[in-house]
Amino acid sequence: MGALEEGRFEGELAAAENGGAGGLGELELELGGSEPEAADCGSGSDAAAVEEAVRALLLGLGEDHEREGLRRTPHRVAKAFREGTRGYRQKVKDIVQGALFPEAGIPNGTGYAGGTGGLVIVRDIDLFSYCELCLLPFSVQCHVGYVPSANRVVGLSKLSRVADIFAKRLQDPHRLANEVCAALHSSIKPAGVAVSLQCWHIPFPENLRSSKLGMQGWVKISSSSCSGVFEEKNSSFWNDFSTILKFRGINTEKGNINCLALQPWCPLSSLEVPYSNGHSMKNTVNGKIPSKLGVTYSSMVSAVSSILLSLGEDPIRKELVGTPHRYVHWLMNFKASANPEMKLDGYNLDKLWSNHKNGEVFSNGHTTIIRSALNMPFCSQCEHHLLPFYGVVHIGYFDEQSGSGIDRARLQSLVHFYGCKLQVQERLTKQIAEAVYSIFSKGVIVVVEANHICMISRGIEKVRSSTATIAVLGQFSSDSAAKALFLETISSTSGG
Ligand SMILES: [Zn+2]
Ligand SMILES: [Zn+2]
Repeated sequence: MGALEEGRFEGELAAAENGGAGGLGELELELGGSEPEAADCGSGSDAAAVEEAVRALLLGLGEDHEREGLRRTPHRVAKAFREGTRGYRQKVKDIVQGALFPEAGIPNGTGYAGGTGGLVIVRDIDLFSYCELCLLPFSVQCHVGYVPSANRVVGLSKLSRVADIFAKRLQDPHRLANEVCAALHSSIKPAGVAVSLQCWHIPFPENLRSSKLGMQGWVKISSSSCSGVFEEKNSSFWNDFSTILKFRGINTEKGNINCLALQPWCPLSSLEVPYSNGHSMKNTVNGKIPSKLGVTYSSMVSAVSSILLSLGEDPIRKELVGTPHRYVHWLMNFKASANPEMKLDGYNLDKLWSNHKNGEVFSNGHTTIIRSALNMPFCSQCEHHLLPFYGVVHIGYFDEQSGSGIDRARLQSLVHFYGCKLQVQERLTKQIAEAVYSIFSKGVIVVVEANHICMISRGIEKVRSSTATIAVLGQFSSDSAAKALFLETISSTSGG
């Protein structure tokens, strides 16, 4: 038996060592990777229903879903939802089966190791999940431990794959911890399982707008779950698990959800459902959907309900009753503003002038000075994926007038005006630059730094990645010294 196993192993090795063929096969697989996505996009009617619903949401946001940037958005959003909930269609058994390996432990009860009692921990598993209360993605850092029994161990990668099955559903952190723990316990049948989670939920846009880059301002919660030997009072296994997590700066407590009683996990849960079961709950605006939103708002809410249904969820499950309303409420933060006040043309242009001196002022030896307004926060919504991107905007411009300039608050309003809608970062950068250039036509430079939830939640980038874009107009495009001076000023202010 052992010889047979060994023989097969060598055969596989030989195939891999044959280099060329094996490598090419893998490459083909990678290249082919973009095609199967169409197949996984939901068969027929479900995918079509989600796309139709997304078009209704775009309409509700006052957008033309036929315009270039938005034409494929329903498809992309449907695909992201479908992938983000693929856990409903995956089975733990399929992953763990065939990945249990015999491994000797310590005989005669002289200690704990290997396949009998040797604690195994996989730390820092990055996952993304969808909050069931609002349909926004939340970030999860997951740590799993288990104690093998009966002289067998499970392939290590299976621990994170099983965790991912449950993350790829509409979730709540506590339930996620419990489900991962229960699934591993019943499929591996070990002496015990421990799961520790740190979860971060996107806050309201106004909180993102004041948080610069990174995950500052996000709502954080910890949760854990355990079974078997970890559950025992003063369990040494639990103590070892939590101590080994501390090596990584992670504090975990048994069966604990921090602060749940003090503050709700999902920041949008404070938005109550306008009407449910006939009796009025606490409401956003006087107990009713604002009448001027009326029909559109209702049709958006039913569009989201139909998305839940298409994903295989039950929209009237207790936790999901208010979800469509909350998601629509979030989206409406990014409805294109119809307020002409903010446009920097015609009559309103004069209003931008202010007598206040502000921003850092540099002299380049002549009468012209460079003014700047740095680190102005914004929160926008990616029009390709309907997920937020947020960060800071830095503006610099040549000013030939002495003693005046644009009030920082006005520039911040300008950033808000162009940011608070469905956008792409490149266009946002360009539009801000052009708006300022319409007044200061000597030269304008704009740098936008942002985190994109769509890049993180689709697994393309890690949480800490960020994106910078730059737009340069007029003299900044030829005066490299002025440009360098401005960029250095940004870097000197962003360090702290
Ligand atoms: Zn939420
Ligand atoms: Zn995007």
